[in-house]
Amino acid sequence: MKKGPDKVESLISERRVKLHVFEPSQRIVWTVVGKGKEHWLDPDAEFCSCPGYYFGKLSGKKSCYHLESVLLAKKENKFEKIVFSDEEYVDFLASLISDL
Ligand SMILES: [Zn+2]
Repeated sequence: MKKGPDKVESLISERRVKLHVFEPSQRIVWTVVGKGKEHWLDPDAEFCSCPGYYFGKLSGKKSCYHLESVLLAKKENKFEKIVFSDEEYVDFLASLISDL
């Protein structure tokens, strides 16, 4: 499978990297919208919910292009920020997990 900066850059330029902020707690959830699926990421823990990350981890890789996209989007401040209320947090996570 092809992996490189072009894939990362298109995710960013297509605004597929999203930061969900829950208020007032300021809890955050990062997602990257891939092909028909939204992946859940934790850039601080270097975690992505995609199968590529999971299987890459097993073979000793540390990252996937979603994770690289979030790190780059963060650095360049190029992501979609969406604000939710804390009451929506549980439903949001539930829908994200059911999508995995
Ligand atoms: Zn991933």
